[in-house]
Amino acid sequence: MTHLPERLLAGYRNFMAGRYSAESGRYRSLAKDGQSPQTMVIACCDSRAAPETIFDSGPGELFVVRNVANLVPPYAPDGQHHGTSAALEFAVQSLKVKSIVVMGHGRCGGIGAALNPSAEPLSPGDFIGKWMGLVAPAAEALSGNQMTDAERQTALERISIRYQVANLRSFPCVKILEDKGRLTLHGAWFDISNGELWVMNPETGDFERPPLD
Ligand SMILES: [Zn+2]
Repeated sequence: MTHLPERLLAGYRNFMAGRYSAESGRYRSLAKDGQSPQTMVIACCDSRAAPETIFDSGPGELFVVRNVANLVPPYAPDGQHHGTSAALEFAVQSLKVKSIVVMGHGRCGGIGAALNPSAEPLSPGDFIGKWMGLVAPAAEALSGNQMTDAERQTALERISIRYQVANLRSFPCVKILEDKGRLTLHGAWFDISNGELWVMNPETGDFERPPLD
C-alpha cells in the first residue's frame, strides 16, 4: 500500500483536529452553497510565498492560481491549452471576483532563470526557458547595466509584475469590467526574508509599503 509522505499525513491530522474542527460549519456551507471568493491571486509556485498564508485567508476567500514566476500569458484565443487563462476566465466570468492581485516575491527562481538562462535546459522540453520567455525582453533590457545581481533580480521581479498586470488587460473581459469599475487590478511583491509586502502604486507603478495600522 502506498502512503502519502508522513509529514503530509501528520499535517492533515492536525488540520482535522484544529482548523477543520473549528471551521467545519464554514466548510459545510461552502460545500452546500458554493464558493464566492472576492479576490483572485496569481502567485508563484514557490513554496515560501503561499498567498493563503501571507493573507491569512480561510476557506473560500481566495481564488488562487500559481505558476512559475506568477506570469499572465497575454490573451491568445488560439485553441491551445492555457491553464492560467482558464482560471482567469472562471474567476472573472463565473465567480465575478472584484479584485485580481498579481503577487511576485523576492529570490524568485523563475525570474533568476530569465536573467541567467542556462545553456543546458533542465529537460529536453525546456519548459522553464520557454515559459520565462514571456519576460525575456525585460530581462535583456536589464543586462549590462550597473546593477548588482541582487538589484537586477529585484528589479525584474517588480517590472514583471507590472507586465503581468498589463497582460491581464489584454483579456477583453478583464478590460471591460475594469473600465466599468467592477474589477480592480493590483500588483504586490513579497519579501520572503522579512515578510514585507510591497504594493504597486497604480498611478506610478512604484512599489510601496502599505500602512499597516
Ligand atoms: Zn517565484
